[in-house]
Amino acid sequence: MIEVVFLGTGGSMPTEGRNLPAIAVLYEGWALLFDAGEDVQRQFEKASIGTNRSMAVFVSHAHADHLLGLPGLLLRFSLLGRMKPLSVYGPAELIDFVRAAQKTINLGTTFETTIYGIEPGIVFSEKNLSVRAFEVDHRGFALGFEIVWERPTGPFHPERAEQLGVPKGPLWSRLAEGEVVTLEDGRVISPDDVTGPPLPPLKVVYSGDTRPCESLKNAAKGANILISEAMYTREHADLAEERGHSTAEGAAMIARHSGVTLLALTHYSPRYFEGDEVLDEARSVFPNSIIARDLMRIRLAKDGSVEVVHPAEALK
Ligand SMILES: [Zn+2]
Ligand SMILES: [Zn+2]
Repeated sequence: MIEVVFLGTGGSMPTEGRNLPAIAVLYEGWALLFDAGEDVQRQFEKASIGTNRSMAVFVSHAHADHLLGLPGLLLRFSLLGRMKPLSVYGPAELIDFVRAAQKTINLGTTFETTIYGIEPGIVFSEKNLSVRAFEVDHRGFALGFEIVWERPTGPFHPERAEQLGVPKGPLWSRLAEGEVVTLEDGRVISPDDVTGPPLPPLKVVYSGDTRPCESLKNAAKGANILISEAMYTREHADLAEERGHSTAEGAAMIARHSGVTLLALTHYSPRYFEGDEVLDEARSVFPNSIIARDLMRIRLAKDGSVEVVHPAEALK
């Protein structure tokens, strides 16, 4: 399963209940963080993500609302004794930004931190998941990210497992996750024995900040989840164009053209409070739209099904 956790859904300025952009993608023991808006460290705590796990950070572009939380996050990890190395990927300015913080505020870390200035292309690949950066149309160099998860196996067939005498329980889960298991009688069962042919990969796409553009449309093609900024409604289409952002309608048009399953709107202007008008506008074009809230989670299961867990439930 892949789990998307919205740590911040605000655009430009934080408001009561909405922090600046940050999205965690959790899978197979990894946490990938996309953007690090101010106060992301507190959101990490609230979402119980844990600090000493395998992790990588991706920054979409060098605008303050996507980046200022990074020094605080690195400091927090150090104070909590993180030991695992951490890689940070983003535009080249990111390297200068972190170096300046290291020098001017004496930001040291207890773990190895490597900052990569990246160009469009595959920038990360671990286990069955890869991240591809693509250039979007904002102000200056800005990236979106396509997260592709190769499913470890095809669909699980319980009847085959029963025929082979594999006891129901953890062994079934391990086989479904692509692991070879040994039964008590010494027989070795391979995932191929109990699963069907592999299914196409699952995909989550994050737009970063952008006007609607071809590269986003292409990346989003067939995505299970498109997370798109929706800074304005169509009433302010001129501002969106001028400032390099998307309207809710623009995001929904991309979702429709690209045949995505679910559109999650984020990074909406503080003027929209709860974002009701943003959501209504998107739904008029693409009905399967939701509006992201801080600490909302979206779970994408191996069979492609999607479950949205609202913040109140997520905190239980
Ligand atoms: Zn922004
Ligand atoms: Zn921006």
